[in-house]
Amino acid sequence: MFDKILIANRGEIALRILRACKELGIATVAVHSTADADAMHVRLSDESVCIGPPASKDSYLNVPALLAACEITGADAVHPGYGFLSENARFAEILAEHNLHFIGPKAEHIRLMGDKIEAKKTAKKLGIPVVPGSDGAVGPDDDAMAIAKQIGFPVLVKAAAGGGGRGMKVAHSEADLLVALSTAANEAKSAFGDASVYLEKYLQKPRHIEIQILGDGRGGAIHLGERDCSLQRRHQKVWEEGPSPVLDAAARAKIGETCAKAMRDMKYLGVGTIEFLYEDGEFYFIEMNTRIQVEHPVTESITDIDLVLEQIRIAAGGDLPARQQDIQVIGHAIECRINAENPQTFRPSPGRILQYHPPGGLGVRIDSAVYQGYTIPPYYDSLVGKLIVHGKTRAECLMRLRRALDEMVVEGIETTLPLFRALVREGDIINGDYHIHWLEQYLAGKD
Ligand code: ADP
Repeated sequence: MFDKILIANRGEIALRILRACKELGIATVAVHSTADADAMHVRLSDESVCIGPPASKDSYLNVPALLAACEITGADAVHPGYGFLSENARFAEILAEHNLHFIGPKAEHIRLMGDKIEAKKTAKKLGIPVVPGSDGAVGPDDDAMAIAKQIGFPVLVKAAAGGGGRGMKVAHSEADLLVALSTAANEAKSAFGDASVYLEKYLQKPRHIEIQILGDGRGGAIHLGERDCSLQRRHQKVWEEGPSPVLDAAARAKIGETCAKAMRDMKYLGVGTIEFLYEDGEFYFIEMNTRIQVEHPVTESITDIDLVLEQIRIAAGGDLPARQQDIQVIGHAIECRINAENPQTFRPSPGRILQYHPPGGLGVRIDSAVYQGYTIPPYYDSLVGKLIVHGKTRAECLMRLRRALDEMVVEGIETTLPLFRALVREGDIINGDYHIHWLEQYLAGKD
């Protein structure tokens, strides 16, 4: 097992990793920018190192500063969390070159899945169903038009290096397509430094359903069921739940086994998520995330498996925590991502939290790094915290979520709490009857 882990992240996920380390008896090193000197992860860690000024590129993405922090503290492993360097294959290699463990998959798998075109090709080869589309990158000068006509409009132009919903454009007609190709390519070039784009059939009313997997890197892998992340705004998840209101045990076992088998064949190491769109009873792979995800507590709640702790154990050469037949889905869980944003315009609302009262009680979990008097800096994401609620049934979970949301107090900044209080009382949400465009349509109707 590792002796000391450096947590190369901030916010709630840094705290989440710190908690797993404490339970494993591993010493922790927090790193922080000058803007985060007062952050909770810094206060709770055994040691901390300032790694640069506020801008992420100078601090949380600053590889030489992170290496220096490992060197001076004697850390032997690095946990990257999500975002920042978590899906940077080169970072994983650089750590290895310095005899440091990267808590995550093999660099080759991060690289493979980071390129969505390669990821789709690999998924197809491994027997995972994919969204119909171009076989590789397309440009305006080759047969993009012919491919689009063949798959049928509307089509989606997506960036090979995409992430966070960026570099994606819908084209409803041939005329749209030329514009979509160049805007998506330009956006991808400036955001990711890679202009390659590809085409996918644009699905009209799918759900976003993802499978959590865990691999030991030696050909063993299990799946931990699904999360339904269909409530999105601008392709960003807002509410996640598990199990999905539309999957039964047989469908779950079938897609889960397909994913687990693919991971066994790849000899995948660590946690990962295989993302699908789901329409008319069919699954279509869109991408794989090779890291712990924001919504991982949903799965932890319904399987009683600590994903971050297992991620660390597996990175240190440990075995999978259970056999597939021992994994059970117990009850229902919902996560709300509560952001420091105006609940109507979604304009970020950083600033000082004057009053803070998190909800509690049976089945209620808050993953957050804020506290009363804390100032949310304007430089990073706007997550105040994740509220995760568990119940024996979906109905009990919704009831519990309603009361937890009503109990929660965050004052001094604007938050998206009012949005969740309204959602949890909406008929379609109560019935589990929604798809990836539902939330945007709902918000447009409120104007
Ligand atoms: P990113 O890596 O930028 O998050 P994804 O490929 O994971 O991109 O897609 C994000 C979201 O975009 C999906 O959850 C879904 O809402 C939407 N999306 C992606 N591909 C399609 C598609 N082919 N048809 C319709 N919507 C899509």
